[in-house]
This record gives sequence, structure tokens and C-alpha cells, in this order.
Amino acid sequence: MIYPWQQEQWQHFLVAQKGRHLAHALLLSGLEYCGKQDFAKAIAHSLLCENPNEQGHACGQCKSCHVFKGGSHPDYQIIALQEGKKDISIAQIRELSHFLELSCSYGQSKVAIINHADRMNENASNSLLKTLEEPPQNTVIILVTSEPSALLATIKSRTQQIVFSTPNKAVAITWLQTQGLRHTPEALLSIASGRPLLAKALDDNTLLEKRKKLAEDLVLLLREQQNLVELAKNWEKEDFSELLNWQLSWVQDLAVARQFATAEKKAIKFKAIDINKQLNQLNLLVDAAHLWDLHDGLLSLIKLAKHPLNKILFVEKMLLIWLETKTKYN
Ligand SMILES: [Zn+2]
Repeated sequence: MIYPWQQEQWQHFLVAQKGRHLAHALLLSGLEYCGKQDFAKAIAHSLLCENPNEQGHACGQCKSCHVFKGGSHPDYQIIALQEGKKDISIAQIRELSHFLELSCSYGQSKVAIINHADRMNENASNSLLKTLEEPPQNTVIILVTSEPSALLATIKSRTQQIVFSTPNKAVAITWLQTQGLRHTPEALLSIASGRPLLAKALDDNTLLEKRKKLAEDLVLLLREQQNLVELAKNWEKEDFSELLNWQLSWVQDLAVARQFATAEKKAIKFKAIDINKQLNQLNLLVDAAHLWDLHDGLLSLIKLAKHPLNKILFVEKMLLIWLETKTKYN
């Protein structure tokens, strides 16, 4: 299955496939929560199907499709980050290379997906490079990543790239309307910065509550009603990339609001409507002159968010950036 906002990328694949110039390795890159992994799966399904339709989609009826749907296709493998592990290991890549060298059990090709390909460690990358240099016949490896810059240039140069940008808003909204959500699609999509799958995930209240808790914590921190060290302990286990993305979008929200700020500091309507109250409070607590310092400070942490050396120190630093931008008049 592909999402409605991926038509252009699908055509890209289809043209290459029909023209018989599909590379042995594809690189799907772009923002998270926009469906790249599902797209990779759709390509794999299509390549393994005995009778794909005109548009290249798997038939869903053939023997291969049945096995694929059952999740045990012998010519198909997915490599991902194993639970609790920091990176994709060389052992995983060696196993993959071995799998690709075996002859096909069903049709004419073997397909492997490497999700979060940027998480391959150095040895794993070098091992994969060897396979890409001499790819076994009739094999396709699909690399999926939101951080293509973290891949070896020599790996990238051996792939056919398919790039995914933020989905068209109207298309995303139309899709969200069919998902039986409790909250309004427009609001969810805005909170998710345009990423439809995150918008859908946010409909589950626990994520919305988590956002609200983070915003409330920041308010308490700036009011000196919450201790920085204690707070860092609470946030240690969270996904730092997502925490930072949220905070960055809030700072942008605050910056936009400043342009319409009135002298009497009336309540402002923010884009992140789920935490409107907290953003109004933050608006009074953060010094306008330091708003972009705050933004740049948080932005500088993004690169380290996936592999912080020390998680507690990382969160403390994140919170300190907020404290440093506190207005002196409160
Ligand atoms: Zn089929």
C-alpha cells in the first residue's frame, strides 16, 4: 500500500521498473512519519508479486502475495534496529548478504529493506558496501532513512534515490478524514508539522498528553516551581528528536505570535492549539530578545539527539537553554 501523497515517488519507481533500469539498491529518504517504510514495503511486495497490475501494484492474489501477507516470504527480509541496540550491526548485514546470495524460492527476485539505514555502524556500512559493489543477480536492497547525510557517500552513489518531502496538505487532510480520528485532522496535522502519520498517532491521547506535560514542565521550570535536575530525570527516557522537534515548532509559534503581540499582552491564538494555554504562559516567561537564541540552541542539539553521550546531561542542557532565555521581569 502506498499513501495518496506518494504518487509521484511511485511513478518514479514504476518508470524505472518498467524501463528495466531499476537499480540494485534504492535509497528512500525524507522526513519521518510520512510513510517511507510502508512505501519500501509496497515496492518489495510489487517486485515479489507474480502478476503486478498496470500501475505496478501487487495483485494480492498470487501465491507470492499470499505468503508476503502472511509475513514469511522466503525471498524477503527486513533489517531494523534491534530493541535496546544502538546501531545496526555487521552481523545483521552479513546475514543479509548471505540471504541475498541464496537462489530465489518463488519468483525472480529477492528483496531486502534496511530501515533506519543511517544507524548502521561503520563495520556494517563497509560490509554493505561490499555487497553493493557486487550485488547478487536479481536482488534489490531498499535503504530507508530520514538522515541520508549520515550514510557513506560510497553507499549513496550506488543507490537510486527517491526523495520524500512534506506531503501536500490538502491530500494529507483528505487521507486523515478517512482514518476515523477523534480530533480534527487540521489541528492534528498542524501539531504534527505536516506529517500525516504522526498526526494520526497524535490522535491517541497519550501522545497529546505527553506534549502537554512537556509544555507544562517548561512553564514550571521557568517559574522556578520545578527543579531542573528532577525534570531531566523525568524526560530521560523520551525520544529526544521528537521532544526537540516539538519545542522548535513552539518557539517558531512564539516568534510568529510576537509579531502580532499587543501592548496589553492579550491571550494569543497559537498554531499548536492543543497547548495554547501553556504557550500563552511561555510567551510571558521567555524574553522576546532571546527567542532566536532559544531556537538556535535547541536546533544545535538536534544533531546529537539520536546518540547523546549522556542522556541526563543532554536533557539538562536542553532545559538550560530555556532557562537562559527567561525574561528578567518575571
Ligand atoms: Zn501477486
